[in-house]
Amino acid sequence: MKSKAIKDIRRLIKPQVRKLAAYHIDETPCRIKLDAMENPFPPPDQVSREIGKAVQQAFINRYPDPSATNLKKAIAALWGMDPDLMLLGNGSDELIQAIILAFGGPVLIPVPTFAMYAVTSQALSQNIVTVPLGKDFSLDSDRMLKKAKEVKAKAIFLACPNNPTGNRFSDAAVRKILDKATAAVVIDEAYFDFSRKTYLSELKQFPNMIILRTLSKIGFAGLRVGALAASPMVIKELNKIRLPYNINTLSQAAAVVALKHKSIIDRQISLLISERETLYNVLSQMKGVTAYPSETNFILFRTSTDATRIYKKLKQAGVLIKNLNKLGPLKNCLRVTVGKPEENSEFIAELRNILKA
Ligand code: PMP
Repeated sequence: MKSKAIKDIRRLIKPQVRKLAAYHIDETPCRIKLDAMENPFPPPDQVSREIGKAVQQAFINRYPDPSATNLKKAIAALWGMDPDLMLLGNGSDELIQAIILAFGGPVLIPVPTFAMYAVTSQALSQNIVTVPLGKDFSLDSDRMLKKAKEVKAKAIFLACPNNPTGNRFSDAAVRKILDKATAAVVIDEAYFDFSRKTYLSELKQFPNMIILRTLSKIGFAGLRVGALAASPMVIKELNKIRLPYNINTLSQAAAVVALKHKSIIDRQISLLISERETLYNVLSQMKGVTAYPSETNFILFRTSTDATRIYKKLKQAGVLIKNLNKLGPLKNCLRVTVGKPEENSEFIAELRNILKA
């Protein structure tokens, strides 16, 4: 018999959570997948075989290495980080959650930016406060600082370069916030490998700075590995709330092997950067399209007619991109991830067809 004690279980869920909309991921299988900023190249066969061997030798009956020592060393070497001043996460998404858990809110963000800063803040019942980016998606540091002071922000998230706009904020604006804000300032460098610019060397100068990176964009999204670098005190505190064993054994084993092949990763990234430039130039010259410059592995563009219709038509043609069209600064905006050269050409051809029709 059904229990009558609780008529509607939803009443027990926090209102902040009930109000949330689930983070929408379009799962339509498509011939060409350019929606999620993945690296389109799987590892070459020889690397896959090496990964397979490492995975085979892993002891999955045991818990993972709680410190992920080998993986931490491999990531530290990849990006020139100090392994003692790092924390790994189940994707940088988990590290964003750890930061908000530790610092609490209000959390201040410029908008538009990466959706998970707001979603996670709300899920953790922390106030989220927003400051609009300029028309050219530039960051107004004075407005951010004023707002931070007014609301007594505990954490500020700045994606550098920013998602979904693709641009990097000016160094002067970011440094002003790092210098003046009495909050943790999270510099999310998820797209570092495509901008090749970082604030990592300034960690000593700004003890309130936290840097985030991820392996997701450079070829290993399926492993779910993110990294955080910060001052010793921040690392110590965050380590207390990090879930134990948060990087599973198979991901640790696979990523350590994958990162040994840095020259392959570098070659893929260089190709994607050059493809990005080609894609940008083509989109910029297309009638009815405004493309925004990008220092990432995606391009944001605005269409002069209904973007949702274009998105749907592309999907029907087997090309999945991200629809960002809603009222506000992203009206009629779409985001395309840079794919393999032949995928990018097909995307362009289909888009041309749709715009002509
Ligand atoms: N930060 C930014 C700016 C992102 O765009 C993304 C992914 N879209 C993430 C973090 C999350 O990446 P991960 O796969 O490491 O959780």
